Amino acid sequence: MSQNYYQKEIETMSTEEMKKLQSEKLVKQVKHVYENVPYYRNLMDEKGVTPEDIKDIDDLHKLPFLTKADLRDAYPYGLLAKPLDECVRIQSTSGTTGRRVVAFYTQHDVDLWEDCCARAITAAGGTKKDVCQVAYGYGLFTGGAGLHGGSHKVGSLTLPMSSGNTERQIQFMTDLGATILCCTPSYAAYIGESLKEQGYKPEDIPLKAGIFGAEPWTEEMRKGIEKALGIKAYDIYGLTETSGPGVAFECSEQSGMHVNEDHFYAEIIDPETGEVLPEGSKGELVFTSLDKEAFPLLRYRTRDICVLSRKKCSCGRTLIKMAKPMGRTDDMLIIRGVNVFPSQIETVLLNEGYEPNYQIIVDRVNNNDTFEVNVEMTPEKFTDKVSEILSMEKSLAGAMKIMLGINPSVHLVAPKSITRSEGKAVRVIDKRKLI
Ligand code: ADP
Ligand code: ZN
Repeated sequence: MSQNYYQKEIETMSTEEMKKLQSEKLVKQVKHVYENVPYYRNLMDEKGVTPEDIKDIDDLHKLPFLTKADLRDAYPYGLLAKPLDECVRIQSTSGTTGRRVVAFYTQHDVDLWEDCCARAITAAGGTKKDVCQVAYGYGLFTGGAGLHGGSHKVGSLTLPMSSGNTERQIQFMTDLGATILCCTPSYAAYIGESLKEQGYKPEDIPLKAGIFGAEPWTEEMRKGIEKALGIKAYDIYGLTETSGPGVAFECSEQSGMHVNEDHFYAEIIDPETGEVLPEGSKGELVFTSLDKEAFPLLRYRTRDICVLSRKKCSCGRTLIKMAKPMGRTDDMLIIRGVNVFPSQIETVLLNEGYEPNYQIIVDRVNNNDTFEVNVEMTPEKFTDKVSEILSMEKSLAGAMKIMLGINPSVHLVAPKSITRSEGKAVRVIDKRKLI
């Protein structure tokens, strides 16, 4: 397959050249932050590090980390490194974990972010001939703005749909011949389901590719969406703190995402000790913005758990790759002392022929954790015979026990009874936190 690159020189740069570029940018960035962000200067002073100690990218580990708690402390302007009158945009996190973070952008920062998204669209096969339907939310959330800007840069015809109003999404998709769909994977699955209900077959739909991210999704879910929409589904990763989507993107190999490491330097650390781990180790992902001006976070702990790899990629890009994040450290549930990720439950469901429509409910009764999983019956599996339902529930609970090591109580619920998501799906209701 012939490869298209948006910024070939950078995307295929040798590792040595990349290191040189990163080093030059880091030295400048640390000075900029030290001089303009008293909050971070204090952290550096406490650690006894000065900008002169940072001579190249290998010195990065000397710098202090930033955490989401720091962002909260410094809200709203404490980490701003440029005067407000040089900023042109504010975006904010979707608040999945309850706390909002506000990020600032200069025009240079917006351009850099949109370039990253343009690299992602191009890697998914997008060109100026494409019609790109952006069904991520618009507004404070970064999904809509990021892919919208990227689509403009590529020169595709952009459909700024935002999320929701699924009927209208389908009407525009079919009437205007959308070839690329950008949204959360859970919304893509919902659009697929709605298309089927309206009698469309995958081959009736003009789409060829999808760029899905902003929440964790499994390989099994990817296969399901690809089949339902008749497309290739590409992953995209990012977070508001670093810009938004486009920090990393998938190529035709579909085996992890290339990190735009000329702008965002990635490290994997041990979340307990903070020690930097060697390539290939699983740990917490940490990002340093090498050249953002207004909100340049150094060594920001994402709490996403994943693995980095420099293995050669068939697409020709040399950018380091990150595996699909398997969840956030704060997504991980500890139930009866066992670590449980929603993604593990999703894998079991899809392997057993169910759809990824489920909800996990955890509570504590008499000092014991209760662990329930509600799963929608699919129309194909639907039955109203109690004995059959019980036996399906038992077999699903058995499969989950094998994956997780603990036994949930599984309840099959009627098709369509779990609320669909137009943005990030809410998979977990942990009532223990309310106590
Ligand atoms: P919030 O923290 O409120 O959800 P963001 O909208 O900035 O705010 O979300 C960023 C987070 O979304 C990331 O830290 C990561 O946990 C998750 N995320 C984004 N893209 C992906 C992806 N492709 N796969 C898995 N998780 C993702
Ligand atoms: Zn690649």
